Amino acid sequence: MFDTLSDRLTSALQTLTRKGKLSDADIDATAREIRIALLEADVALAVVKEFIAKVKERAKGAEVSAALNPAQQVIKIVNEELVTILGGETRRLNLAKNPPTVIMLAGLQGAGKTTLAGKLAMHLKKQGHAPLLVACDLQRPNAVTQLQVVGERAGVTTFAPEPGNGVGDPVDVARRAIEEAKHAQHDIVLVDTAGRLGVDEELMKQAADIRDAVTPDEILFVVDAMIGQDAVNTAEAFRDGVGFTGVVLTKLDGDARGGAALSVRQVTGQPILFASNGEKLEDFDVFHPDRMASRILG
Ligand code: GDP
Repeated sequence: MFDTLSDRLTSALQTLTRKGKLSDADIDATAREIRIALLEADVALAVVKEFIAKVKERAKGAEVSAALNPAQQVIKIVNEELVTILGGETRRLNLAKNPPTVIMLAGLQGAGKTTLAGKLAMHLKKQGHAPLLVACDLQRPNAVTQLQVVGERAGVTTFAPEPGNGVGDPVDVARRAIEEAKHAQHDIVLVDTAGRLGVDEELMKQAADIRDAVTPDEILFVVDAMIGQDAVNTAEAFRDGVGFTGVVLTKLDGDARGGAALSVRQVTGQPILFASNGEKLEDFDVFHPDRMASRILG
Protein backbone atom coordinates (compact mmCIF):
# COMPACT_ATOMS: atom_id res chain seq x y z
CA MET A 1 0.00 0.00 0.00
CA PHE A 2 2.77 2.45 0.82
CA ASP A 3 5.09 1.71 -2.10
CA THR A 4 4.78 5.06 -3.86
CA LEU A 5 4.91 7.02 -0.63
CA SER A 6 7.94 5.02 0.50
CA ASP A 7 9.75 5.70 -2.77
CA ARG A 8 8.97 9.40 -2.63
CA LEU A 9 10.06 9.79 0.98
CA THR A 10 13.22 7.82 0.43
CA SER A 11 14.23 9.96 -2.54
CA ALA A 12 13.34 13.18 -0.67
CA LEU A 13 15.61 12.13 2.16
CA GLN A 14 18.34 10.73 -0.05
CA THR A 15 19.24 14.16 -1.41
CA LEU A 16 20.30 15.05 2.11
CA THR A 17 22.73 12.17 2.52
CA ARG A 18 25.16 13.77 0.11
CA LYS A 19 25.44 16.85 2.28
CA GLY A 20 27.87 17.14 5.17
CA LYS A 21 26.03 20.02 6.76
CA LEU A 22 22.40 21.07 6.40
CA SER A 23 21.30 24.65 5.95
CA ASP A 24 17.78 25.82 6.76
CA ALA A 25 17.24 26.03 2.99
CA ASP A 26 18.16 22.33 2.63
CA ILE A 27 15.67 21.43 5.32
CA ASP A 28 12.95 23.57 3.74
CA ALA A 29 13.53 21.96 0.36
CA THR A 30 13.31 18.45 1.81
CA ALA A 31 10.23 19.38 3.83
CA ARG A 32 8.57 20.60 0.64
CA GLU A 33 9.21 17.27 -1.06
CA ILE A 34 7.92 15.33 1.93
CA ARG A 35 4.81 17.52 1.94
CA ILE A 36 4.09 16.75 -1.71
CA ALA A 37 4.69 13.03 -1.15
CA LEU A 38 2.22 12.96 1.76
CA LEU A 39 -0.43 14.96 -0.08
CA GLU A 40 -0.12 12.71 -3.12
CA ALA A 41 -0.59 9.72 -0.83
CA ASP A 42 -3.94 11.25 0.21
CA VAL A 43 -2.93 12.16 3.75
CA ALA A 44 -5.34 14.78 5.13
CA LEU A 45 -4.09 18.35 4.67
CA ALA A 46 -4.32 19.27 8.37
CA VAL A 47 -2.22 16.23 9.27
CA VAL A 48 0.38 17.05 6.60
CA LYS A 49 0.68 20.66 7.76
CA GLU A 50 1.23 19.72 11.38
CA PHE A 51 3.68 16.99 10.43
CA ILE A 52 5.80 19.26 8.23
CA ALA A 53 5.83 22.07 10.80
CA LYS A 54 7.10 19.67 13.48
CA VAL A 55 9.74 18.11 11.24
CA LYS A 56 11.06 21.52 10.19
CA GLU A 57 11.12 22.88 13.70
CA ARG A 58 12.92 19.86 15.07
CA ALA A 59 15.37 19.54 12.16
CA LYS A 60 16.38 23.18 12.34
CA GLY A 61 16.82 23.04 16.10
CA ALA A 62 18.66 19.71 16.10
CA GLU A 63 21.92 19.64 18.03
CA VAL A 64 25.01 18.51 16.13
CA SER A 65 25.27 14.85 16.96
CA ALA A 66 28.40 12.77 17.13
CA ALA A 67 26.53 9.58 16.34
CA LEU A 68 24.41 10.71 13.39
CA ASN A 69 25.23 12.78 10.34
CA PRO A 70 22.76 15.60 9.52
CA ALA A 71 20.82 13.49 7.01
CA GLN A 72 20.47 10.62 9.46
CA GLN A 73 19.24 13.06 12.03
CA VAL A 74 16.46 14.31 9.73
CA ILE A 75 15.52 10.73 8.86
CA LYS A 76 15.30 9.95 12.57
CA ILE A 77 13.05 12.97 13.13
CA VAL A 78 10.78 12.03 10.19
CA ASN A 79 10.57 8.49 11.53
CA GLU A 80 9.70 9.65 15.04
CA GLU A 81 7.05 12.07 13.79
CA LEU A 82 5.53 9.32 11.63
CA VAL A 83 5.32 7.10 14.70
CA THR A 84 3.62 9.96 16.53
CA ILE A 85 0.93 10.53 13.89
CA LEU A 86 0.31 6.78 13.81
CA GLY A 87 -0.38 6.86 17.54
CA GLY A 88 2.97 6.47 19.31
CA GLU A 89 2.72 3.42 21.52
CA THR A 90 0.91 0.22 20.58
CA ARG A 91 -2.53 0.41 22.19
CA ARG A 92 -3.83 -2.88 23.58
CA LEU A 93 -7.48 -3.83 23.95
CA ASN A 94 -9.21 -2.63 27.09
CA LEU A 95 -10.44 -5.70 28.88
CA ALA A 96 -13.22 -5.40 31.47
CA LYS A 97 -12.38 -6.08 35.11
CA ASN A 98 -15.59 -8.07 35.33
CA PRO A 99 -15.95 -10.19 32.20
CA PRO A 100 -17.41 -10.36 29.70
CA THR A 101 -15.55 -7.61 27.88
CA VAL A 102 -17.90 -6.21 25.24
CA ILE A 103 -16.39 -5.11 21.95
CA MET A 104 -18.67 -3.54 19.37
CA LEU A 105 -17.67 -3.22 15.70
CA ALA A 106 -19.00 -0.34 13.64
CA GLY A 107 -18.36 0.92 10.13
CA LEU A 108 -19.68 1.13 6.62
CA GLN A 109 -20.94 -1.89 4.72
CA GLY A 110 -18.05 -3.52 2.92
CA ALA A 111 -15.47 -2.10 5.31
CA GLY A 112 -14.58 -5.63 6.36
CA LYS A 113 -16.36 -5.80 9.73
CA THR A 114 -17.61 -9.35 9.48
CA THR A 115 -14.27 -10.64 8.25
CA LEU A 116 -12.57 -8.68 11.01
CA ALA A 117 -14.92 -10.16 13.61
CA GLY A 118 -13.65 -13.62 12.65
CA LYS A 119 -10.03 -12.49 12.61
CA LEU A 120 -10.28 -10.82 15.99
CA ALA A 121 -12.12 -13.81 17.45
CA MET A 122 -9.38 -16.15 16.25
CA HIS A 123 -6.65 -13.82 17.55
CA LEU A 124 -8.32 -13.64 20.97
CA LYS A 125 -8.91 -17.37 21.08
CA LYS A 126 -5.20 -17.97 20.42
CA GLN A 127 -4.48 -15.75 23.41
CA GLY A 128 -6.57 -18.02 25.62
CA HIS A 129 -9.85 -16.10 25.57
CA ALA A 130 -13.25 -17.59 24.89
CA PRO A 131 -14.95 -15.08 22.59
CA LEU A 132 -18.59 -15.12 21.54
CA LEU A 133 -19.44 -13.61 18.15
CA VAL A 134 -22.77 -11.82 18.02
CA ALA A 135 -24.69 -11.22 14.80
CA CYS A 136 -26.35 -7.83 15.10
CA ASP A 137 -26.12 -7.04 11.40
CA LEU A 138 -29.67 -8.00 10.59
CA GLN A 139 -29.96 -5.68 7.59
CA ARG A 140 -27.72 -7.19 4.97
CA PRO A 141 -28.99 -10.46 3.55
CA ASN A 142 -26.56 -13.25 4.47
CA ALA A 143 -24.69 -11.18 7.06
CA VAL A 144 -25.72 -13.58 9.83
CA THR A 145 -24.72 -16.64 7.81
CA GLN A 146 -21.45 -14.97 6.83
CA LEU A 147 -20.63 -14.34 10.48
CA GLN A 148 -21.51 -17.94 11.34
CA VAL A 149 -19.15 -19.12 8.60
CA VAL A 150 -16.21 -16.99 9.80
CA GLY A 151 -17.05 -18.03 13.37
CA GLU A 152 -16.82 -21.67 12.40
CA ARG A 153 -13.52 -21.09 10.63
CA ALA A 154 -12.19 -19.28 13.67
CA GLY A 155 -13.46 -22.07 15.90
CA VAL A 156 -15.69 -19.85 18.04
CA THR A 157 -19.41 -19.80 18.84
CA THR A 158 -21.72 -17.35 17.07
CA PHE A 159 -24.85 -16.02 18.76
CA ALA A 160 -27.55 -15.18 16.19
CA PRO A 161 -31.29 -14.62 16.18
CA GLU A 162 -33.25 -17.83 15.63
CA PRO A 163 -34.19 -18.29 11.98
CA GLY A 164 -37.83 -17.79 11.15
CA ASN A 165 -38.38 -15.02 13.67
CA GLY A 166 -38.47 -12.26 11.08
CA VAL A 167 -35.69 -9.70 10.82
CA GLY A 168 -35.36 -9.35 14.58
CA ASP A 169 -34.23 -6.52 16.77
CA PRO A 170 -30.44 -6.11 16.94
CA VAL A 171 -30.64 -4.39 20.33
CA ASP A 172 -32.52 -7.36 21.75
CA VAL A 173 -30.04 -9.80 20.17
CA ALA A 174 -27.12 -7.87 21.70
CA ARG A 175 -28.71 -7.91 25.17
CA ARG A 176 -29.49 -11.60 25.02
CA ALA A 177 -25.97 -12.31 23.79
CA ILE A 178 -24.47 -10.74 26.91
CA GLU A 179 -26.65 -12.99 29.08
CA GLU A 180 -25.60 -15.99 27.03
CA ALA A 181 -21.94 -15.02 27.39
CA LYS A 182 -22.25 -14.86 31.17
CA HIS A 183 -24.09 -18.14 31.24
CA ALA A 184 -21.66 -19.97 28.92
CA GLN A 185 -18.50 -18.38 30.35
CA HIS A 186 -17.43 -16.39 27.34
CA ASP A 187 -15.07 -13.68 28.57
CA ILE A 188 -15.27 -11.54 25.42
CA VAL A 189 -18.32 -10.62 23.36
CA LEU A 190 -17.74 -9.34 19.82
CA VAL A 191 -20.77 -7.55 18.45
CA ASP A 192 -20.97 -7.19 14.67
CA THR A 193 -23.34 -4.35 13.68
CA ALA A 194 -25.02 -3.36 10.44
CA GLY A 195 -23.22 -1.07 8.00
CA ARG A 196 -24.85 0.85 5.17
CA LEU A 197 -23.28 1.89 1.93
CA GLY A 198 -23.11 5.47 3.12
CA VAL A 199 -23.34 7.14 6.48
CA ASP A 200 -27.02 7.51 7.40
CA GLU A 201 -28.94 8.54 10.46
CA GLU A 202 -30.84 5.31 10.88
CA LEU A 203 -27.58 3.36 10.90
CA MET A 204 -26.09 5.71 13.47
CA LYS A 205 -29.17 5.49 15.67
CA GLN A 206 -29.21 1.70 15.56
CA ALA A 207 -25.52 1.53 16.45
CA ALA A 208 -26.06 4.06 19.26
CA ASP A 209 -29.02 2.01 20.58
CA ILE A 210 -26.90 -1.15 20.65
CA ARG A 211 -24.13 0.82 22.37
CA ASP A 212 -26.56 2.07 25.04
CA ALA A 213 -27.94 -1.42 25.58
CA VAL A 214 -24.61 -3.20 26.07
CA THR A 215 -22.21 -0.40 27.22
CA PRO A 216 -19.18 -1.72 25.33
CA ASP A 217 -15.68 -1.60 26.78
CA GLU A 218 -14.45 -0.89 23.27
CA ILE A 219 -16.18 0.41 20.17
CA LEU A 220 -13.94 -0.28 17.20
CA PHE A 221 -14.49 1.74 14.05
CA VAL A 222 -13.59 -0.52 11.13
CA VAL A 223 -12.43 1.39 8.07
CA ASP A 224 -11.30 0.36 4.63
CA ALA A 225 -7.93 2.02 4.06
CA MET A 226 -8.56 1.90 0.31
CA ILE A 227 -11.23 4.61 0.42
CA GLY A 228 -8.68 7.40 0.76
CA GLN A 229 -9.85 10.80 1.97
CA ASP A 230 -13.38 9.45 2.46
CA ALA A 231 -12.06 7.41 5.37
CA VAL A 232 -11.52 10.58 7.32
CA ASN A 233 -15.03 11.92 6.62
CA THR A 234 -16.59 8.58 7.53
CA ALA A 235 -14.54 8.41 10.72
CA GLU A 236 -15.71 11.86 11.74
CA ALA A 237 -19.34 10.91 11.09
CA PHE A 238 -19.04 7.76 13.23
CA ARG A 239 -17.19 9.64 15.94
CA ASP A 240 -20.02 12.16 16.16
CA GLY A 241 -22.87 9.68 15.67
CA VAL A 242 -21.79 6.69 17.74
CA GLY A 243 -18.38 7.48 19.18
CA PHE A 244 -15.55 4.97 19.19
CA THR A 245 -12.55 4.10 21.31
CA GLY A 246 -10.32 2.65 18.62
CA VAL A 247 -9.83 2.09 14.92
CA VAL A 248 -9.20 -1.01 12.83
CA LEU A 249 -7.71 -0.48 9.38
CA THR A 250 -8.66 -3.06 6.79
CA LYS A 251 -7.43 -3.84 3.28
CA LEU A 252 -3.91 -2.61 3.94
CA ASP A 253 -2.90 -5.18 1.35
CA GLY A 254 -4.53 -3.04 -1.35
CA ASP A 255 -2.68 -0.76 -3.71
CA ALA A 256 -4.37 2.48 -2.68
CA ARG A 257 -2.17 5.33 -1.57
CA GLY A 258 -2.49 4.77 2.14
CA GLY A 259 -3.21 8.31 3.29
CA ALA A 260 -6.24 7.17 5.28
CA ALA A 261 -4.02 5.04 7.45
CA LEU A 262 -1.84 8.05 8.16
CA SER A 263 -4.68 10.48 8.84
CA VAL A 264 -7.29 8.66 10.85
CA ARG A 265 -5.51 8.65 14.21
CA GLN A 266 -4.69 12.34 14.14
CA VAL A 267 -8.09 13.43 12.83
CA THR A 268 -10.21 11.37 15.24
CA GLY A 269 -7.89 11.35 18.24
CA GLN A 270 -8.49 7.61 18.63
CA PRO A 271 -5.77 4.97 18.35
CA ILE A 272 -5.45 2.31 15.65
CA LEU A 273 -5.56 -1.07 17.40
CA PHE A 274 -5.48 -3.63 14.61
CA ALA A 275 -4.71 -3.96 10.93
CA SER A 276 -6.24 -6.34 8.41
CA ASN A 277 -4.29 -7.12 5.30
CA GLY A 278 -6.06 -9.80 3.33
CA GLU A 279 -9.17 -11.93 3.03
CA LYS A 280 -7.90 -14.89 5.04
CA LEU A 281 -8.44 -15.07 8.82
CA GLU A 282 -4.69 -15.09 9.38
CA ASP A 283 -4.22 -11.79 7.52
CA PHE A 284 -4.46 -9.75 10.66
CA ASP A 285 -2.19 -8.17 13.23
CA VAL A 286 -1.97 -5.88 16.20
CA PHE A 287 -1.13 -2.41 14.90
CA HIS A 288 2.34 -1.22 15.85
CA PRO A 289 2.95 2.46 14.96
CA ASP A 290 6.73 2.03 14.98
CA ARG A 291 6.67 -0.94 12.61
CA MET A 292 4.28 0.85 10.27
CA ALA A 293 6.54 3.92 10.23
CA SER A 294 9.55 1.77 9.39
CA ARG A 295 7.59 0.12 6.62
CA ILE A 296 6.63 3.51 5.18
CA LEU A 297 10.18 4.83 5.33
CA GLY A 298 11.36 1.68 3.54
P1 GDP B 1 -18.70 -5.83 6.14
O1 GDP B 1 -19.80 -5.48 5.20
O2 GDP B 1 -18.11 -4.61 6.78
O3 GDP B 1 -19.05 -6.88 7.13
O4 GDP B 1 -17.50 -6.39 5.22
P2 GDP B 1 -17.03 -7.89 4.90
O5 GDP B 1 -16.33 -8.47 6.07
O6 GDP B 1 -18.16 -8.64 4.33
O7 GDP B 1 -15.92 -7.60 3.79
C1 GDP B 1 -16.23 -7.04 2.53
C2 GDP B 1 -15.28 -7.61 1.47
O8 GDP B 1 -13.95 -7.21 1.74
C3 GDP B 1 -15.25 -9.13 1.47
O9 GDP B 1 -15.15 -9.55 0.13
C4 GDP B 1 -13.97 -9.48 2.23
O10 GDP B 1 -13.42 -10.72 1.83
C5 GDP B 1 -13.08 -8.33 1.86
N1 GDP B 1 -12.08 -8.02 2.87
C6 GDP B 1 -12.25 -7.85 4.21
N2 GDP B 1 -11.09 -7.52 4.82
C7 GDP B 1 -10.14 -7.49 3.85
C8 GDP B 1 -8.72 -7.19 3.82
O11 GDP B 1 -8.08 -6.88 4.83
N3 GDP B 1 -8.12 -7.24 2.60
C9 GDP B 1 -8.79 -7.57 1.46
N4 GDP B 1 -8.10 -7.59 0.32
N5 GDP B 1 -10.10 -7.84 1.44
C10 GDP B 1 -10.78 -7.80 2.61
